[in-house]
Amino acid sequence: MKIIIAGAGAMGSRFGLMLHQAHNDVILIDGWQDHLDHINRDGLIADFNGQEIVAKIPAYHQDHANEIDFDADLIIVFTKAMQLDHMMASIQNMIGDQTKILCLLNGLGHEDTLEKYVSKDHILLGNTMWTAGLTGPGKAKLFGDGYLELQSLSTTGKAAADKVIDVLNGAKLNAKYSEHILSSIYRKACVNGTMNGLCTILDSNMADLGATAPIDDIVNSIVNEFAAVAKHEGVELDLDQVLAQIKSCYDRETIGLHYPSMYQDLITNQRLTEIDYINGAIARKGQKYGVATPYCSFLTQLIHCKEELLGAK
Ligand code: NAD
Repeated sequence: MKIIIAGAGAMGSRFGLMLHQAHNDVILIDGWQDHLDHINRDGLIADFNGQEIVAKIPAYHQDHANEIDFDADLIIVFTKAMQLDHMMASIQNMIGDQTKILCLLNGLGHEDTLEKYVSKDHILLGNTMWTAGLTGPGKAKLFGDGYLELQSLSTTGKAAADKVIDVLNGAKLNAKYSEHILSSIYRKACVNGTMNGLCTILDSNMADLGATAPIDDIVNSIVNEFAAVAKHEGVELDLDQVLAQIKSCYDRETIGLHYPSMYQDLITNQRLTEIDYINGAIARKGQKYGVATPYCSFLTQLIHCKEELLGAK
């Protein structure tokens, strides 16, 4: 399959590399020139479960996407949430009548951004439990296993989605079709909407945060706001299941000592966060549906203060 990875950071590198290894025709499009230069000069270098892999995958700057002659069957967008609109504008002319766009970003509301550029029958909305990291320009660290779920936004899109799933599974990406992708997306957003913002503001790993006295109250309040908004979008969240998933993050033996990605982006690397697409999305949607969201609004504002204080870019 001819595949564009639009946004070739940590996750784009993982998907690009695994699909390339499975003999698909893959190109990378990104906006970080230094990263692109390294990939085009030395290949994409990955520590893949402890083994070094060098993949020669052509990489292009998104500002020159118009000049690329590549008839893509599939475009996997993997920017940060706040970069998605600009990426879609950059690659708009590369989207053909048959091109599917798979979106696996964290956060809520990306379908609204995608629908500014393509109709529902192009869009596959998904959610992934794969992880990835970058250790420098052109260098990825890819550990562990994962899976992904996706759903076509059009009622007639299942057959095309199944073809994409076959290709993803050919690359061992463990993909399956979901009839309720919004539920999965909301469940993951609840975990991100509690652990990410709170650990970042409170300068804590998840285990230490989970051991504080007020945490249950705070988490319950945030999750209740997500659930109330989700209900207006036809999603019934199972609160016990969501809270159990959040509590599993406190386990010191597994992932509890970990600082969430928002912490690494903002505190470690002074990069802007995806807060507007997680708690900020709940605040915006809450306003639309007449649902009060004081916890999500406040956490969003605190993260924006921190971004300003740290001069995040
Ligand atoms: P990323 O930050 O690695 O990459 C996103 C974009 O930022 C890319 O265009 C990349 O080139 C650019 N970028 C990265 N580092 C940069 C730097 N130092 N200077 C300039 N540009 C830089 O993002 P990601 O982790 O691949 O995440 C993409 C999406 O997938 C997000 O929505 C994220 O929440 C989601 N996600 C990530 C993971 C993960 O483990 N990383 C897991 C699941 C979902």
